[in-house]
Amino acid sequence: MKVRGCNALVVTLAFLSSMLFSGAMAVASEPSLVLNGKLTQGSLIRGQVPVGSQVSLNGQSLTVNPQGKFVMGFERDAQATHTLRIIAPDGKTHTQTLTISKREYDIQRIDGLDQKMVSPPKSVLERIRNDSANVARARSGNRNYDAVFTRFSWPAEGPITGVYGSQRVLNGEPKRPHYGVDVGGPIGTPIVAPTSGIVTLAEDLYYSGNTVILDHGMGVFSTFLHLDSITVKVGEELNKGEQLGTLGATGRATGPHLDWRINLGSMRLDPQLLITDSE
Ligand SMILES: [Zn+2]
Repeated sequence: MKVRGCNALVVTLAFLSSMLFSGAMAVASEPSLVLNGKLTQGSLIRGQVPVGSQVSLNGQSLTVNPQGKFVMGFERDAQATHTLRIIAPDGKTHTQTLTISKREYDIQRIDGLDQKMVSPPKSVLERIRNDSANVARARSGNRNYDAVFTRFSWPAEGPITGVYGSQRVLNGEPKRPHYGVDVGGPIGTPIVAPTSGIVTLAEDLYYSGNTVILDHGMGVFSTFLHLDSITVKVGEELNKGEQLGTLGATGRATGPHLDWRINLGSMRLDPQLLITDSE
């Protein structure tokens, strides 16, 4: 149960880290902290502390599983400085300041557009409200499930055609940033689970078309948008690499692509950072 990753950041507050992974914590008086992930905006960080520790980020307590593992995320526009506090089983408190790097997002300014109404027709408003309630429900769990601590791989093969955080400014009005990573490819390209997960949503939604949500545990979810077909059902557990559907252009998509998203609860994080860290 080693925390892997070629650029895993290891912050050792004491020299007892080898004991941490063997589970032999009998005489430890100082906790160790291991963080796996890039300390940057949009990043999901997976961490390890001695079993029985409590962890908080900026004063908010995080769920620590029985193995001492936890996750935390930094949003698209997260500030630079964060305070991580660990209370060891012996009651000692250790505080670590985390500095995360700022990212340059792709901002596209388009002026002189016709102010055409793009709001959805009234008749579908109720459906849209229902959809977002279902999505929120499908991403609301905090399951003690270990998949989130394993390696993630691309759910589809193809060129990256859209990145996390990018934003269009139309006639001076900033639009909602893009929170997924887009993978292009022909309709029918297999989409597979990037790591193991339990299906919490598998249905056709107004905006995102055929949509699948996978629960990877600890409040971390993958969402796959615009699928041509869905080949799984809610409640199914998928192993990493098992197919969940095919690439498509359903919903309000401009062309065939997979839009893959990562959420930590309602926090939207960059799926691509999970891949860079582990492959
Ligand atoms: Zn997209």
